[in-house]
Parts: sequence; structure tokens; C-alpha cells
Amino acid sequence: MDPQEGPSSGKRKRSEGKRTLQQIASEFIFMDGAAAHCRIEPASKCHYVQATRDIGNYIRHFRLKHPEAANNAGLFKEGEAPERKPRVIPKSPIAIDGRLVLEAVLKLVAYHNLPLACVEWEGFKLLLDPLAAALAISLSRNGLKTHLKSTSDRIREAIANEMRYKLISVKIDSASRLNRHVLGINVQYALNGKVVIRTIGMIEIKERQTAGFLKAKILEVLGSYDVSIEQFFSITVDNGVTNDNWIFIEHYVQAFKPLYVCTKKLQEKHVSLPDFYLYWLKAISELSNFPSNPFAPQLIKSLTRRLEALKTSRAFQMALYLDPRFNFLNSKFFKVEEKLAIQGYIIDTYERIQKLKPMNGTDDAEQSGTSQHSQFDDFLTEMLGGSLDDSTTSDTTTFIQQVKALDGEPRQGFSHNVWEYWMRRQKTHPELFAVAMVVLAAPSNQVSVERAFSGLALVLSPHRAGLGSEVLEDILLIKLNRDIFEQIMPSYEWKEFTSAS
Ligand SMILES: [Zn+2]
Repeated sequence: MDPQEGPSSGKRKRSEGKRTLQQIASEFIFMDGAAAHCRIEPASKCHYVQATRDIGNYIRHFRLKHPEAANNAGLFKEGEAPERKPRVIPKSPIAIDGRLVLEAVLKLVAYHNLPLACVEWEGFKLLLDPLAAALAISLSRNGLKTHLKSTSDRIREAIANEMRYKLISVKIDSASRLNRHVLGINVQYALNGKVVIRTIGMIEIKERQTAGFLKAKILEVLGSYDVSIEQFFSITVDNGVTNDNWIFIEHYVQAFKPLYVCTKKLQEKHVSLPDFYLYWLKAISELSNFPSNPFAPQLIKSLTRRLEALKTSRAFQMALYLDPRFNFLNSKFFKVEEKLAIQGYIIDTYERIQKLKPMNGTDDAEQSGTSQHSQFDDFLTEMLGGSLDDSTTSDTTTFIQQVKALDGEPRQGFSHNVWEYWMRRQKTHPELFAVAMVVLAAPSNQVSVERAFSGLALVLSPHRAGLGSEVLEDILLIKLNRDIFEQIMPSYEWKEFTSAS
């Protein structure tokens, strides 16, 4: 009971023992004139008051109404102190299992940014301990680390499977907070008709590191997902310079509605390269409606310069060529030599896609398919006579014709959905469809930068500054790939890792 139990306290206790109960009790009585007020437990707001002081009655009052305080003060004789009865908590049947408890704790850490030590917080333990006891699990800080590692490993595995045999776009972002600098590695690609953005790694940069070191690190992360250089379609790096441009433009956003609308549009989850180009053009065109505005000419100049730079990128050129809003019958958008070059890039990209496909399986099936086909053709030829026109049966010829025929399509309006346009052509133009899925999934905007920034800002709050790089990466991986985390949790083997924790 004595909080200062120690070798020196024995002496003090003996001298205290000589004080009478009356002496002790009088310390807790406040005299207001003749009236005696109870003050043994100010927090209890006891209103007991005697018109004239009767110390015997006060001792009884203290023992009856303030038993714990009375006991602490020494107002009970040895062995007379009332036994503290623990509160009886009724048992209630609830539906919960270990996986749910674990999922809840992982989400508190990864989604809601609680520190790992939260499992040791007093308030948290009040909730967690009865659950852990009932389910025969334990969740320590280290156990939590194990689960973060194994769930993030499952996410890595799922992403690696998604990227297999695909041409992908890579986007490198940087973020800094509390003197910690992190590079975020994002990948983008089409999956089941939709563009997905995945964060596959965070590299913490300790000091000023060389470009060569960073390149090696980035390749190392991609390699850990079995992604080879042959799979890169585009690589976008947000260096300081482009970020500065962005801030420069943002300063004007409030003054200029066209730009505001443009940046709002660009903050959507994925903006394809042609859509990006169009939003940019629209902002320029609307800005030129305000020739008297002092900022307008400079802004138009800066926007146009960026647009020109974009148009030199191969990915942009291919994306615009595949878009009937830019490339249509009699369009003046591309020069003849530009068109020829872009057609070459598209054919080249298709060949790269083909090369990535697994060697066994698909190829065999195709070959047996064509040989069956020609066998049946031979049979028909025998029956009907004549010969087959070879040029129409060649897939490559059809493909090249389709690539060239794109500049003969009717023109589409500003709001045309180019993604849907290619989704509809999946069956009729399978090769071009495959290229379009790669090209239109390439990133154009700053969305993932903001994702990495806000993710990092929240995870690296001051009380988590001591978090190790590996745990930080595991947490961010879960945080930034929530949809995969939700997918893997139902089949997560939580028992395997709980027993070890
Ligand atoms: Zn009282």
C-alpha cells in the first residue's frame, strides 16, 4: 500500500505508528468556524459536515464512506481493513476471432498511424487483454512486427503476380519529413480493364547519395518483385525541378480558375497521357481569354513550354496517336514523318509485349491451333480446290494495317473516353488493344507523389521518429496498398505467426 516501500521507510512507519487515530483523523477535517467538514477525499465531493467536531464519529465516517482513503491513511487497526472486492464483470458472448483482433490492430497501426507500442498502452490493454486471453493469443510489440512483416510480404507477392509478363510504367517519387528522406517506387499498369497504381517500395536515403546508388537501389527493389528492365515501358522521376515548377503553378491556382480546374482534374486517381495533354491545352486556351491579366502571358508561356516538352516523349506520342481526338482522318496534329516514327514505336511495343509472354503454354497452344487450322484448310482445299490468300491470314500484316488505319478514323470530341474506346476494340484489334492498355496506363500526373507524401507525413509523426526503416516500409506498403491488404486478410494464416510472438 505504501508507494515508498524501502529500507528507509521502516523507521518512519514506526514513528507514525505512535500517532493516535484521533491525530490522524483530525488531519482530514477542515474547520470552518465551529463547523467540521470532511476533506479526506476532495475528489469524492463528500458534503459530510458536523456542527461541532466529534472525532469518534469522524473516524467512523471515514471508515464507512471512504474505506480506501481511510486504510491508506492508517485509520484501520491491523487486519481490520475491509477487503477490496474486485468488480464482477459479466461475461458476454461476442463474435470475434484472432484474425479479426489482429486485423484491427494492424489497421490501427498502418491505416490510423498508431505507434507499435499501442499494444502496451494501458487503455489499449484493458480492451485487448480479455480478448487475447479468451482467444489464447498474445500481441506484443515484437509480435506485431512479425505480423506487419508477414502481411506486407503477402502484399509483395500479390503485386509480383500482377506484374508478371507485363509491360509496366515506373514512377519514382520523393518525400521528406522530420529529416528523413524517402523515395517511393510506384508502378502503374492495366489490370482487368482498369489502371492500378501500386507502391512497391520505399527507399530511405540516409545522406546525399549518388544517382548511381539510387538507380541500383531502384533496380534492386524492382528485382525483388521479379521485374526486369525488359518490362519497363516508361520511367517518370519527380526531381526537385519539376516539383518547383509545380509549386510555382500552384501559387497561381487560386487566381486562375482554368488552372484550378486543370489541377483538380489532374488530382484524379489516374489521368491518361492524352487526357493530361487535353486538360493542359484547355487551361492554355481558357487563359488566353484574359489577355489583360498581368499573369496570363507568363503562365501561358510556362504551360506551353511544358506541353512542348511532353510532346517529345515517346509515351506521349504513342498515347496521342492511339487517341481519335488527336489522330483522325485529315488531322494536322502529326507530320507524316512523325506518324511513321510513332507507328514504329507501337509495333516495337507490341513486340516487347509478345516477348514477355511465357515461352511455354501460350506458344504451344497457338502453334497447335494454327496447325489444326491449316490441316482443316488443307482438307477444304482438297474438297473445293483453289488456294488460300496468305496475306489475309498473317496476323502481323493485319496489325500493321490496323496501326496505319488509325489516322483514317472519324474525329472524336473533347469529352470522348479513349479508355472505353480501346476496351470496345479488345476483340477486333487485340494487338493494338494490348499496346493501348500499356500506353494509356502510363502515369501523367502528381497523384502518387501526394500519396507518398501524405502517407509518409502521417507515419513519421514525431513519436514514431525512431521507427526502423524495415518496419516503416512494411507499414507504408500496407497503408498504400489497402485493397490488396483487404484481399489477403481473409486467408492470412495468423496462427502460424501468433504462436511465435
Ligand atoms: Zn466524507
